[in-house]
Amino acid sequence: MNIGILGLGLIGGSLGLDLRSQGHHVLGVSRRESTCDKAVALGSVDQASVDISLLTAAEVVFICTPIGLIIPTFEQLIAHLPSNTVITDVGSVKTPIVKAIAPLWDNFIGGHPMAGRTDSGIEAAIPNLFEKKPYVLTPTATTPAAAITVVEKIVRELGATLYHCSPEEHDRAVSWISHLPVMVSASLIAACMSETDSNVLELAQKFASSGFRDTSRVGGGNPELGVMMAQYNRQALLNSLQQYRHNLDELISLIEQENWTALEQQLQSNHKVRPEFVE
Ligand code: NAP
Repeated sequence: MNIGILGLGLIGGSLGLDLRSQGHHVLGVSRRESTCDKAVALGSVDQASVDISLLTAAEVVFICTPIGLIIPTFEQLIAHLPSNTVITDVGSVKTPIVKAIAPLWDNFIGGHPMAGRTDSGIEAAIPNLFEKKPYVLTPTATTPAAAITVVEKIVRELGATLYHCSPEEHDRAVSWISHLPVMVSASLIAACMSETDSNVLELAQKFASSGFRDTSRVGGGNPELGVMMAQYNRQALLNSLQQYRHNLDELISLIEQENWTALEQQLQSNHKVRPEFVE
């Protein structure tokens, strides 16, 4: 199958590596010539260009640009595609994208692979990034079954676990488990940096080990992506952050009151439910 990838960064580049290894012919388009050259050299794509018309021959196109550019690049892209081309995207927020694109392109299906790394750009692309990770598709009531089937088949070939839901449900769910953690982790790093004793701060930096690595990873990642999550999933994220502030205040008050029994009950309950999110 001829598959197009628009935006050769971490996600687009990683997708290309897997699709090529499954025997697909991958056409890549990116903004910078140097990225196109690297994508070919790394084996992410068979051909690459800064000229979007390269994607005319693609049967399916994955839009993998930063969230804020998905709709503008889609608008440029469709001038070069026959109407039976299936278009999907990988944006971390779905409602504004599906609302804007679905009315303009019948064969569009929103998607979001729940896989990432701290680094970004084509150099960060790796094989098997999506393996055993959730991959959410958000078809609408009018998305043609054939378009859904084509994208589902590709997603399954990546080794990902496929889920379907509405764009709105997706955005509320990812607000809890992806966008809220980015903001919590970012404020954790900022709080540590507020230590005014330079000796203590230096010691903290030296002592930081696996716990801090885990809890700071998502907050220390790509800043552009964090801003876009907030911008495009603003209301759901605000709801999650307000609930989080409430939970944090409860913990503060239990510690102030030295209510160790209640604190332990709370931590026990968290310990019990965590496996329902991650094994
Ligand atoms: P990234 O590594 O920064 O890659 C985005 C790439 O898009 C850049 O390398 C850039 O390539 C290219 N680009 C920028 N403007 C473009 C344009 N006008 N036309 C064509 N290409 C353009 O970002 P990413 O992490 O792969 O994220 C891409 C998408 O995946 C986002 O929508 C994000 O929401 C979604 N996503 C990200 C993650 C994650 O954890 N990172 C997870 C799931 C989904 P040049 O080098 O050519 O400028």
